[in-house]
Amino acid sequence: MNYIDSLVDDLIKVRNRVKRKERKNTLLRLILQAKSEGCAKCGSLYYLTFHHLDSGSKRFNVSEMVARNATITQLMLEMGKCKILCRQCHDAAHR
Ligand SMILES: [Zn+2]
Repeated sequence: MNYIDSLVDDLIKVRNRVKRKERKNTLLRLILQAKSEGCAKCGSLYYLTFHHLDSGSKRFNVSEMVARNATITQLMLEMGKCKILCRQCHDAAHR
């Protein structure tokens, strides 16, 4: 690989890193936005989780999707299947 090729290669790597980071920030912002109203059942703002309304349609654990580098579309789709519940109401929903 010549000098120019390796420079371009480095630039592409940096650009991809920046894009990954931007996407990660967008995912985090979308999750925060969804949680901003609090628990759908009791209104609590603490220990908020994503509860899948139909566990059969669950493909991903929403909170793990950021680390797994999911796309924005994948996150939106998965969040659309959920409602926000605090840990206590979430536990109760599964009992
Ligand atoms: Zn609650």
